[in-house]
Amino acid sequence: MDIDTDICVVGGGPAGLTLALLLVRSGIRVTVLERSRSLDRTYRGEILQPGGQALLDELGVLAPARERGAVEHDRFLLEEHGRVLIDGDYRRLPGPYNCLLSLPQRHLLTELLAACERYDGFRQLAGAKATALVEEGGAVRGVVAGGSAGAPAQVVRARCVVAADGRFSKVRGLAGIGYRRQELFSQDVLWFRLSAPPRPGTRRPCDVRVFRAGGNPVLSYRSVPDALQLGWTLPHGGFRPLADRGIDHIVEQLCRAAPEYAERIRAEITGFADLSLLDVFSGSAEQWVRHGLLLIGDAAHTHSPIGAQGINLAIRDAVAAHPVLVEAVRSGDAGAARLSRYAELRRPEVERITRIQQIQSRMMLSTGRFSSTLRPRAAALMSRTPLYGALLRRIAFGTAPVRLRTDLLAAVER
Ligand SMILES: Cc1cc2nc3c(=O)[nH]c(=O)nc-3n(C[C@H](O)[C@H](O)[C@H](O)COP(=O)(O)OP(=O)(O)OC[C@H]3O[C@@H](n4cnc5c(N)ncnc54)[C@H](O)[C@@H]3O)c2cc1C
Repeated sequence: MDIDTDICVVGGGPAGLTLALLLVRSGIRVTVLERSRSLDRTYRGEILQPGGQALLDELGVLAPARERGAVEHDRFLLEEHGRVLIDGDYRRLPGPYNCLLSLPQRHLLTELLAACERYDGFRQLAGAKATALVEEGGAVRGVVAGGSAGAPAQVVRARCVVAADGRFSKVRGLAGIGYRRQELFSQDVLWFRLSAPPRPGTRRPCDVRVFRAGGNPVLSYRSVPDALQLGWTLPHGGFRPLADRGIDHIVEQLCRAAPEYAERIRAEITGFADLSLLDVFSGSAEQWVRHGLLLIGDAAHTHSPIGAQGINLAIRDAVAAHPVLVEAVRSGDAGAARLSRYAELRRPEVERITRIQQIQSRMMLSTGRFSSTLRPRAAALMSRTPLYGALLRRIAFGTAPVRLRTDLLAAVER
């Protein structure tokens, strides 16, 4: 039988579940379609900036998600051959969210989902993949979820559909919305995990690092449980020829790039299954709203992992879309004109963050003799100016105020 709801959210990632929670807490009926049956997504970044932490805390999900396991990082460091070129000290920012938080997405999604389930009107269809849109009179009025393994298809009818289905958004494609992919970054990232000795009880500072020791730059941070997450940068599109030379060749490249971890790399990276390649690109959907349709998070705009902005922006999109959708449902008007307020609010920040990431990427990851002579001087110069403090605040808290409309959160838990 068809499901009738106010808002159908496609994609139960950080964007979709944050929005779903805000809406059900505002008394709006929400159905989330999520193609996966588990909360263990293929590897996703997990560094959360202070701005995102603050919003999740206001929603009451940060503390329980942290309790499941998280690591606080005091600083972001750019290092070259053991020398610190940039020391982005988050402890100098105003508290209490003055750290970079490594929080596995599974922990965040578990708590968001648990919070949603405390409200009437929430429903999640897990293992349900959006395969078609229901359109009437030029407006989107629902989604068809393809039944897996012969199960019948399910139609979800809604006043408005939200595409929160990630960087390769199916809904965006089904709606015929174009996507401008921009090759602004000249590196891809090969992610892998290593074991790390347990930390003693006393709190020892951890850092998110981008370091260059030999070979290409490496991103690294401590993750849970007792793991080290590393990202080896390589020229854009350069993985295939490397892979053709075999895993042993790649392992040697990794050891050269991260000699301090060479022993563990040789012992723990034994096959391609231990590696996860991220094709780094940025891009934006040509339209973020349509009659009866709104795009948020990676479905609307995609980013490089540099500067850890994706989750932050996804959460901020959800917070900005929330009052617009509440009004749309209450007024019975989910036309593009009403929804466009959301796009007007969010596009400028997303464009500014993309520009900041381009600067960060050039500053930290560019290769060649010119960049390695110029980089230390430029980094030293920049980190001594007040401009750097201002830039760090923008990276940490966002470039535009996004206020959570707590006045709309009137629904009571069941
Ligand atoms: C390797 C990697 C490292 C990253 N590192 C960081 C980092 O450190 N910090 C940071 O802030 N960001 C990072 N990012 C980006 C961050 O993961 C994303 O920006 C963020 O997850 C976006 O959230 P989202 O909810 O918009 O999309 P997603 O997290 O992609 O969620 C989309 C959801 O939609 C579901 N879905 C997809 N298609 C369908 C369909 N047809 N029907 C139903 N459901 C569907 C998916 O299963 C998924 O659950 C990284 C990304 C990658 C890939």
